[in-house]
Parts: sequence; structure tokens; C-alpha cells
Amino acid sequence: MKITDIKFAMLKVPLVTPFKTALRSVSEIEDVIIIVETDTGQCGYGGAPATAAITGDTHGSIIEAIRVIMKPLLIGKEIANINELTEVVQASIVKNYSAKAALEIALYDLFAQLYNAPLYKILGGGEPTLSTDITISVDYIDKMVEDSKKAVEQGFETLKIKVGKDIGLDIERIKAIYAEVKDTALLRLDANQGWTAKEAVFALRNLEDAGVKLELVEQPVRADNLDGMKYITERVHTPVMADESTFGPKEVIDLIKIRAADIINIKLMKTGGISNAIKIADIASTYEVECMIGCMLESSVSVAAAAHFAVAKSNIVRKIDLDGPSLCQYDPVESNVIFNNSEITISDSPGLGIKKIDGLRML
Ligand code: MG
Repeated sequence: MKITDIKFAMLKVPLVTPFKTALRSVSEIEDVIIIVETDTGQCGYGGAPATAAITGDTHGSIIEAIRVIMKPLLIGKEIANINELTEVVQASIVKNYSAKAALEIALYDLFAQLYNAPLYKILGGGEPTLSTDITISVDYIDKMVEDSKKAVEQGFETLKIKVGKDIGLDIERIKAIYAEVKDTALLRLDANQGWTAKEAVFALRNLEDAGVKLELVEQPVRADNLDGMKYITERVHTPVMADESTFGPKEVIDLIKIRAADIINIKLMKTGGISNAIKIADIASTYEVECMIGCMLESSVSVAAAAHFAVAKSNIVRKIDLDGPSLCQYDPVESNVIFNNSEITISDSPGLGIKKIDGLRML
């Protein structure tokens, strides 16, 4: 199976409610979709959103990096040599992690199709069911409590609460939500870099003293403030998870060595795809540091790949935050990954099993 062409398309999906974090507010998902064609007629699909504030990638930069830099290096190459292909992708250009991720997802889709197995089996197998949390956006307290109750009614057992705009209000938000759902759901906090280290310690100790049990707190301080992450990790009982502070395997090693976090959030859009995500899971497993699989606000093409990866690495990827598709009004992608509120299941069709994508606009 040889690569013959790489094509580009755009996919837009409206969200049920606007997604608000300490950094941004968004009302629809818009991804670049990559279609890798081969001489057997089989196609591989990948995708990536623009997350300029987090990874620096835009739709334009994703398309350009693949079209101008990566595509010429891959045309004519054998899908069977997946390790060679991912090395070519990773070495082709510095950074541009989301572009690399989109392309790697399509390549792995084809690699699994070549051996006629779903991707998770090719990556090592596992039990193909996952249970994801759902994000509760930053808002007025009443609205956040209402959204949390609704999520629990839909069957979500873990809620990821976005905080990080105003420390006093954040504490009130969490207490109010906890009072409402403490018997039915676990709470994760994501501050999206919105606090200072001292604020984080103050808020978490306040919550701990008030009896609020949190599963974890995610990225309380700025991405580049590893000293701050370490300061918090040393001072609170609540496990601290690094999201924007770690992208690739080297950063994970540094972070683990200085103990700047208890948990690592792996996102394909930060790692540059599946090959580095595998490395990170293996590094974390070696050090017995638990991982979460996360996603950006992205469509179910790339989230499907993340689900396959998480199943195969479930020994260490034990926390699932793949709620992108369930935040959307509908799922335009028919693949072998079924997103049904909190429940994610994978069937046995080859690769990512993508049969059709509604509303795809070819470029
Ligand atoms: Mg996060």
C-alpha cells in the first residue's frame, strides 16, 4: 500500500452550548480534515482543529505545513513502514504539532487498514470501551450548577469544571457544584492557566478544608511556569495534572524528574500524533505516573484516534477526557468509534472505520 496523494477539507460542527474557558469562548468546532490516498484505493483520515492560543497552530499553518513540507516527503512511501513514516513527519519541521498529529492519525488509520484490524488492536489491544467526562464551561454559578445537574442526568459520572477567572468566585462555583452533585459525580477542575501558584494553593486548601473532594486540578498556572506547578504539587493533597505545560516526550521526562505534577494530560494535538503519545505513555508507565487522554475542541475524526490510543494504553491512561464529540449538536462522522454521551465504544472494522463524513468541504 503506497501513498499516492494527500487531500484537504474543512469540517464544521456547531456546539450545543458555547465552550468557555479562562482563555477563550467558542461556539462551533472547525477542523482541517486530511485524506491520505493510496494505490489500493483505501483512504486514511486525520484531522486537527486550530488552537492558536495553546499550540500555535492555525488552519492555514496546518494545511501549509502538510502541503508544502510533509506531503512531498511521503508520496510513494509504503504504509507498511509506519515507524519510518512517523519519523519523517516528526523530523520534517519544528513544532507544528497539530499538523503532525492530523497526518499521523491518517497514516495510522491506513496502517491498521493494511492489516485489516481496528487501530487499537494494532496498537496493542485492550477492552474497547471507555467512559469520558464532560466539560462544564465557566459561567454564572447558577448556570454551572444547572449544566452540571444536566450532565449527571445524561449519565456522566465525572465532570470537568472550567474555572480560572476570579479565584474567590471560582471557590464558590466549585462549592456550589460539589454540594449539588457530590454523591453522583466526581469533579475535576481545569483552571486553564488562570491562577497564580499562591492562588492555587489558597483555593485548593480552602476547598480541601471545606471537605470538597476533587479528583484532580488541571494546569492551575501558566504553561511555562513549571516552578509554580511544582510549588502547588508539593503543597496540596489534590493531585495536580499538567496539560499545557507538557507537549512531547522530553517535556514529560523533565516534568516527572522535577515532580512538577502528579498526572500528565496527553493530547494528540500537543504530542504531534500517535507515535509520541505512545512514547509518553511508556515513559509515564515506567515512572508509574498516571495519564489522562484529552482532546481539544475537535471533531470525532481525531478524537476517534485518541480513543483507540487510550484503549491500547489503558494500563496507564486511566482518565478519559474525550468530550469533543458529545459537546456537538450532532456527529457528522461515521467511524468505528461510537460516542454516546459518557460511553465510548469501538467496533471491529479496520483502522478508524471511517465510512463517511457529512458536510465535508473539500479544499
Ligand atoms: Mg486542559
